[in-house]
This record gives sequence, C-alpha cells and structure tokens, in this order.
Amino acid sequence: MSDFVKVGPLDNYDLPKKSLGNIFFERIKKRNANRVAIVDWTGEELNYGQLLQSTVKLATRMTKLGVKKGDIITILSQNSTKCILTVLAGFYIGAKVNPLNPDYTPGELKHFFEVCRPVLVFCTRKNVGNVLQLKDLFPVNIILYDTETSDAFENFDNFLEAGTFDPGFSPIELDPEEDVALILTSSGTTGFPKSVQLTHANLRVTMLYIGDPYFLDVNENETLLAFLPFFHIFGVAIALASMMYAAKLVVLEKIVPDRFLSLIQHHRVTKLFTVPPVLLFLVKSPLVRKYDLTSITDVLCGAAAVSKEVEDLVEAQLKISCVRQVYGMTEVSGAATVIPKNVKKHGSSGKVVTGHQIKVCNPETGKTLGVNEFGELRIKGGGVMKGYLGKEKETEEAFDEEGYLRTGDLGYYDEEGFFFIVDRLKEIIKYKGFQVSPAELENLLVQHEAVKDAGVIGVPNERAGEVPLAFVVKQPNEDVCEEELVRYIAENVCVQKRLYGGVRFIEEIPKSSSGKILRRKLVNLL
Ligand code: AMP
Repeated sequence: MSDFVKVGPLDNYDLPKKSLGNIFFERIKKRNANRVAIVDWTGEELNYGQLLQSTVKLATRMTKLGVKKGDIITILSQNSTKCILTVLAGFYIGAKVNPLNPDYTPGELKHFFEVCRPVLVFCTRKNVGNVLQLKDLFPVNIILYDTETSDAFENFDNFLEAGTFDPGFSPIELDPEEDVALILTSSGTTGFPKSVQLTHANLRVTMLYIGDPYFLDVNENETLLAFLPFFHIFGVAIALASMMYAAKLVVLEKIVPDRFLSLIQHHRVTKLFTVPPVLLFLVKSPLVRKYDLTSITDVLCGAAAVSKEVEDLVEAQLKISCVRQVYGMTEVSGAATVIPKNVKKHGSSGKVVTGHQIKVCNPETGKTLGVNEFGELRIKGGGVMKGYLGKEKETEEAFDEEGYLRTGDLGYYDEEGFFFIVDRLKEIIKYKGFQVSPAELENLLVQHEAVKDAGVIGVPNERAGEVPLAFVVKQPNEDVCEEELVRYIAENVCVQKRLYGGVRFIEEIPKSSSGKILRRKLVNLL
C-alpha cells in the first residue's frame, strides 16, 4: 500500500463478526438485569432486564405480524426509548431499520416511501396524519408510539404486550457483510437525498472505535445524553454504543436549552457527543451559568466544522483539556477520523479510525497526494456503505477506480497523520449539522409558476454554520416576491431545509456548458 494512504488500527477486537442482533442480544442478556440502561427526559427508567424482555417481545410481535428478514421498517419519531427498542428488535429479526426525520412533509415522506417501501411504520401523534395521507399509495401497518389507538393504527404498548418473551429466543442468522441493518439519509456529493444502506458488518466497525479507549471510549462508567436525532448516524450510533458498552443513556427527545442543561446536571453526564451549534450555545447562552456542568470530562464534536475560537471557549467554560473533533459521514457509518483521547490538536479532526483508510487526492486528476498536500479525502474500509438503495449509477459514481468513497470534502493530513478538513467540494449545505440538498430545493423552486430557474447555495451563519440561500430567475411576465418563495419552500420541506438565507433575484443562473450550476460563481455574486 502506498505510504500516502493513512490507515487506522486493525480490526482485531473482541467483538464477534456476527449480526448486530446477535451481538446486542448476547451482551444485553449477560448484563445485570437491574442495571439502568436508559432513562428518558421525564425520568422514566428502563433496566437491562426490561430492555431484554421488551426487545424480544417486540421482535416476536413483529414476526407474528409477518415482518421478515429484509423487510423495511420505518421510524418517524423524535428521540425516545421506544425508538431504541424498535431498532434493536428490528436487528434481532433481520429487518432493515429506516429512521427518518419526523418533521418530513408528506411530499418528502412520499419520496422515501417510494424508495424504501416499508412494511411497518412506527410514528407519533404529530406525524401519523402524514403517514395516513399516503396510506392509499402505501398500505403499511402503523404503530403509534403515543397512547392513542384507532382503526387505522395500534399503539406501541399494546403492540409490544401482544408479543411473547420466550427464554429460548435467539436472533436470526444472516450474512453480516451483505445484509442491511440501517437505512439512513444522505445526499452524498451531489443530487437529491438518497437512502444509504449500512450493513451489520459496517455498524459493527462503528461500535469498535466508539468502544475503543483510544478513540471515543464509551464504557460502563460513562453517562451520555442522547439529544442528537436518531435518524442521523451520529445520534443512532451513540445510542446503540451505549447499549453495547453499558453506558447509561439519558434520552432527550430534542434539544430544549433548559432541559438539556438540567439533564446534564441531574444525571451527571460525563461525555458529551455534540455538534457545533450546541457548542456555540454552551459558550454564548447566559443560561449555562445557572447549571453545574462539571461532570462533563470529554466533549466530542462532529457533523460540521468547529472553529478554533469556539473550541478554546468551550474548553475554558467546561474546564476540560480539549474538545475532540470527529469527522464523518453517513456513508461511512459514522466517523472516519477522531481526535484520540487526551490529545490536543486544535483545528484537526483527528486520526483515521479502526478498520478504515484514507487517501487525499487531486479531485481533477485523481492523483494521490502526500503529507500537507490539499485535496479530496477518499475513504475505504469496514464502515463504508453497501450503496444507495435503488440507485446503482449513483452508488457506482460515489467510488473511485480503486474502490475508495469520494467524500467531496477537501483537506490534508500533517506529518503525524492528523487530518484537517478545510473546505467542501460537494454541493450539500450543512444547517446545524443537518444536510440540505441544493438540488432538492432547486427542483421545488422551478416547479413554482413564477420561477424560470434557480440555484441554491449555503451561506455562512454563526448560529447554524450555514443557511440555504436561493438565486432565482423569474419567468418573463411573472412576478413573485422573496417572502412568497420562502413560504412556498417552507410548506414543502421540513424545518431544517427552509430558505433561512433568503432569495436573491438575478437575470441568469451561471452554468457550465454541460448545464451544471456553477455554485462558486453564485457565491462570488454575493
Ligand atoms: P452527514 O452524512 O450528514 O454526517 O454529513 C457528512 C458531511 O458533514 C461530511 O462529508 C462533511 O462535509 C461534514 N462534516 C462532518 N464532520 C465534519 C467535521 N468534523 N468538520 C468538517 N465537516 C464535517
């Protein structure tokens, strides 16, 4: 292998190369049944004995309903203990678990139902209406996490109680390298949001570096706060790792400042997995001073770039030696690089994680570059996705000739093998760590009768990292104002994808001879 390829630790860990269902089931079964596994923000606790019972009952109930290995079950919910039970039970029976953003509009949901064709949907009273709207097109079984029941859906508690706990239960056997465990959403380097298929083997590798004391070091002495959404790889991986390594998991359905801080104080959270906007909140909000956050000894920040200034301020505020950056991507099942434990390296996002290798390439020629040379990061390894569901061409294009995943991120590594992410080649916008696909917003904008053409870019924003802004060319003889287009987009997409950067009207969208929008030119126009 070329000296220019940076390689993470080898996968020689003591975690069997089996299905996630088997790995989790064996671990949960051996735990002290009285040990607290999960406590939610209302204070309701679930111990390992209850976790075992509930996941087995749910698995047997789903099987009774006819859910089989390879079937897709979709979760549309804010974070809750029930989501974790569903994911684990899904793993036991070999179903593909597909957590989606619960704020999706019916239009967005329709797209994912078309691609995934779920057989069973777990949702909440907030979004069951959207699922019911699609029921004629997609006749799925619906289970509500809330307590209501109706002819159209059953509630989770009743559904679970109708399952059986057979002490002889065991999760099904499957091929961990081939069989898909989770389906998450990412636009990749270009185009529309896609359904990323992560196998059991992919996520086993994620569990390795999360449990490794050198990297993320999740272990039984830690208390974690699960506020990052479970429909994003960062959120779901941390929740799963807590069950894997017996850390105590405090589940918060979504981030509400007071509640977030009081839960850290009350449960003495030790390790904070977070994203840049939350770090900014920690250093800026006067609320923070009202709470005792001294239990936090380790802060890991990912999903988007964090500035050195914010890192410094967080370290001073929380009196910790370093904020550790994590760089990753849905398509690699989580992290690709992490700042190792107790290492201070400001601005860097760390070293290559277990089972992965990274090269930096000239994005035009594909030539592999050396130390301190700037180019596109490309990744190979155990966590790299199986592919985009139903998108063979896009899957093929996501990889280079040597089988490395093109990340669309630009950066370099230094003499010690530390990576630095400097810029983004790809189209996606990162709003508070959430992906926004410009292509999706452009497609919606051109469907508006007054819009002839549109180009969307991300503009820097202190609180959110980036916000989407649209350049719009009006149809001749049509008039439309900024507010109307902002409202139109808001009606059609979830809250994270709105045009918070506003709209600028121009005469023409700059394009290449092949019709590709020249986004750098749009950035320069600003
Ligand atoms: P997602 O698949 O939603 O996690 O988005 C992955 C993308 O987020 C990466 O390809 C990067 O563009 C960006 N990203 C994630 N972590 C970092 C980081 N530590 N620094 C800079 N960008 C990051």
